[in-house]
Amino acid sequence: MTTTPALDPQALLRGRDILPTLQRMAVAQVLLLQPAHMTAEQVLEAARRLMPELSRATVYAVLKLFVGQGLLKELPIDGHATVYDSNVQPHHHLYDVDTGHVVDLPAASLQVLGLPQAVGALEMAGVDVIVRVRGLSAAG
Ligand SMILES: [Zn+2]
Repeated sequence: MTTTPALDPQALLRGRDILPTLQRMAVAQVLLLQPAHMTAEQVLEAARRLMPELSRATVYAVLKLFVGQGLLKELPIDGHATVYDSNVQPHHHLYDVDTGHVVDLPAASLQVLGLPQAVGALEMAGVDVIVRVRGLSAAG
């Protein structure tokens, strides 16, 4: 398997002024090397395959750090479990309400019309759309 410099987890962390400890590297390998949407529990489970002694508290702390440093986005999908997104570029989502499966939609694939006039006076920080569907996993 070939890797590009941008996908080297150590370089990725150092680029955001994060000291690449073994624990952070484990979480980075699970979540940051490819587009991924995972809950903290899913990250914990996957990262423990790389580092079995990893604690839940450490994983939550690392996720918080990565969000703070702009490596991850938090998706407030349903309130009960935050989904962490390794794609920090503006984009939208398809969300399967039955399975919890999340897929990216390119920002340009969806247009939001009729934003309230009040927005005109404000600085627009972004529009994130979550399209809730059923049968997403079966479709691919
Ligand atoms: Zn996404």
